[in-house]
Amino acid sequence: MTTPDHVYAAVPELRLRRTQRSKSANTTVLMDAWMKVVSEDGDWYQVEAFGKDGWVKKTETRPSATALKVFFVDVGQGDAVLIETPQRRILVDGGQYSAMRRYLMGWKYKWVLNLPGHQRIRIDDVFVSHFDADHFGGLVSIIGNDRFKIGRVWHAGIPRYADTSSKRPPGIDTEVGRTNVGSGARTKVTSSFDDIDSARNLLAVGGLMPTFRNFLQAVVDAHDVGRLDSIGRLTSRSDHVPGYSGNGDGLKIEPLGPVPLSSTGIVQYPWFSDNSHTVNGHSLVLLLTFDQRRLLLGGDLNREAEEYLLNHYAASLPFQVDVAKACHHGSSDFSVDFLSKLEPYATVFSSGDNENYAHPSADALGSAGKYSRGDRPLIWSTEIGRSNKNAGEEIHYGLVNCRTDGKQLAMAQMFEKRKAGDVWDCYQLATDGSDGITRCAQD
Ligand SMILES: [Zn+2]
Repeated sequence: MTTPDHVYAAVPELRLRRTQRSKSANTTVLMDAWMKVVSEDGDWYQVEAFGKDGWVKKTETRPSATALKVFFVDVGQGDAVLIETPQRRILVDGGQYSAMRRYLMGWKYKWVLNLPGHQRIRIDDVFVSHFDADHFGGLVSIIGNDRFKIGRVWHAGIPRYADTSSKRPPGIDTEVGRTNVGSGARTKVTSSFDDIDSARNLLAVGGLMPTFRNFLQAVVDAHDVGRLDSIGRLTSRSDHVPGYSGNGDGLKIEPLGPVPLSSTGIVQYPWFSDNSHTVNGHSLVLLLTFDQRRLLLGGDLNREAEEYLLNHYAASLPFQVDVAKACHHGSSDFSVDFLSKLEPYATVFSSGDNENYAHPSADALGSAGKYSRGDRPLIWSTEIGRSNKNAGEEIHYGLVNCRTDGKQLAMAQMFEKRKAGDVWDCYQLATDGSDGITRCAQD
């Protein structure tokens, strides 16, 4: 057997030991980290990773990347999640401003941009949970940037207009001029906003919320120069997102929401109490399944929406997961009944320091813990991990990491201050079917 050029970490957190017998490490890496093999000695490899070297057992490594990596990036108030499979890159929301773009270009994929020639960062799929600026505003600076190549953009189908008065609810069907404005109470939202043609129509008709108009223009412009393949709407009518059936790289993505009022025909949604509740409540709800592990990304769902979903899925609730992003940045507007159906081991709150919503709210934090699985459930917060003001720098304090190979699952955040021999505050789920959660790589 020849010595491999490189290997990947096969355990939640791997210690690069100073010597084979040493208890102390030069550094630690998370599951699926790429490590250059320097030499081998019996059952051991000497490896290099992130500028440090050390010894690892061969049984703690794999010859190829196999894990799902999820990065909850601190973008201040908002959501921005980067997902990597061994073959694909996915974004779910992009925050409001440029933090995600700076993270991708300034650190995460800087190496791609430094390849010889004019290189672009390929993002296979971009999901926009809903068209609130703290979720999609930052995507404008990514889709509009010549250094990115985008596959498909998926959205929930409810466009935004400049006039949010009672006369102009979200989701007017621009193609046939159907509106939901009537003399009586509004009960439904209708929208045919779907593909690139309807994006062009919306731009032509006008009257859009400026950030939303900028987003559509960026999508259309990128499409016209061949830098973006397509845009399309998702609803719960699809069993899975096209291309994410669980075959191939193993990732299945099911759009559990938004749930149309009927299973066929024109797409209509129930009207919730106001504009904001309606737009938030019909967020994309994405269930990610990777072998035995499941994650739920529920956008900005609110209590009304969660009750609507519980009612819709009453016969067989699909919501129990290992990791959940807290809906709506940890707003108080949640359903305890819905939360109790998630039963995650870990919940991630994505919110900012400097906002006047009090995200994450005290009751959302407390309830997330109360309705989790296990004796020591994990609550993560991009905000508690400190803000990401220096997004161009190497350390991202607010970045919350998830790694799973479908069985093992690790959640980790960097220490707030550098620590000799250890980089990650890391926790792992038990793989023996119990509800155990332990800290990783403890000698
Ligand atoms: Zn939001």
